[in-house]
Amino acid sequence: MTRGHAPFRIPISDLLGDGGRRRGITIDAEVEWALDLSSVGPHLHADLTLQGAAGGLLVRGVIETEAAHSCHRCLVEWSELVRIEFSEVLGLDDDPDGYPLDGEVADLETPIRDAVLLAVPIGPTCKPDCRGLCASCGGDLNTGACPGHDEEGDSPFASLRELFDS
Ligand SMILES: [Zn+2]
Ligand SMILES: [Zn+2]
Repeated sequence: MTRGHAPFRIPISDLLGDGGRRRGITIDAEVEWALDLSSVGPHLHADLTLQGAAGGLLVRGVIETEAAHSCHRCLVEWSELVRIEFSEVLGLDDDPDGYPLDGEVADLETPIRDAVLLAVPIGPTCKPDCRGLCASCGGDLNTGACPGHDEEGDSPFASLRELFDS
């Protein structure tokens, strides 16, 4: 069973054609969308208005979900609500850069996923002045867990630290 797929598939044949009719929909889906240091889900709620237009479908509304992050400096984890304004056009023509539409069913999963993941930071930081982990012992410098060291250098954490700061 594919989680979170069916709720995104919306029948739209009544909206296309002359006149460009409009309809409101609600999507409640289970999602599990992962980035390197964040994951989106498990619940996603969308209140959207669909409007048929010449050659396509205009989709607008608000999407709400949750994201769990790991700080890219100190690796602490936290969750937050994600709320975005969504506006996208699905086209009946074969635009390679656009979202396709087959005229019967609009699959909103990909455009919604793209918009939500775009709103998630690539390098999530727990707070602007996060001090990260000690390069020598791996202690969390925010909590003073590191006793301090005379020399840092060839510890395995030094290269790890560089990785996260780059
Ligand atoms: Zn942090
Ligand atoms: Zn240390």
